[in-house]
Amino acid sequence: MEDTVFGKIIRRELPAEIVYEDDETLAFMNIEPVTPGHTLVIPKKPFRNIFDIDDETLAAVMRTVRKISPAVRDSVNAKGVHINSNHEAEAGQTVFHLHVHIIPRVERGTYAFWPKLPHDPVEASEIASRIRKEIA
Ligand code: 5GP
Repeated sequence: MEDTVFGKIIRRELPAEIVYEDDETLAFMNIEPVTPGHTLVIPKKPFRNIFDIDDETLAAVMRTVRKISPAVRDSVNAKGVHINSNHEAEAGQTVFHLHVHIIPRVERGTYAFWPKLPHDPVEASEIASRIRKEIA
C-alpha cells in the first residue's frame, strides 16, 4: 500500500495532536475539523479501507472509537457525535489509510449531513436482492 500522511503520523515523521494510543491503534485531532474536537482513529497497520482490512484490526479500531468517544464528546460539551468513515474517493475518502471520524455535535440542525431520497420500495427490493446474492 502507498505511504500516506497517516503513516507519517504513526512513525512520528509528521506532527499530530495525539490523544490516545495502544498497540494497534492511534487517535489524533483532525487538522481540518468539521466541528471542534473532530478526532480520527486509525489502525497502525496500513489498510486502505473497509475493502481490505481484516476483522481483528477493524475490531481494534472500533474498540478505540467506543473507548474515546465519551471523552471527545465531553471535551467540547457536546451532546452527541457522528461516527463516520469514508471508503474510496467516490465516497469522499482523501487519505487512503482507513480512519474513523468522531465528530462532536453540540446542537442539531447546524448542517445537513445526509440528503434523503424518497422511499422507492421497488428499487430497494431490487438492490436488496443483489446484496443478498453478493453476500451468499
Ligand atoms: P477523509 O476525507 O479521507 O474521510 O478524511 C481524511 C481526513 O484527514 C480529513 O478530514 C483531513 O482533514 C484529515 N487530514 C488530512 N491530512 C492530515 C494531516 O496531515 N494531519 C491531520 N491531523 N489530519 C489530516
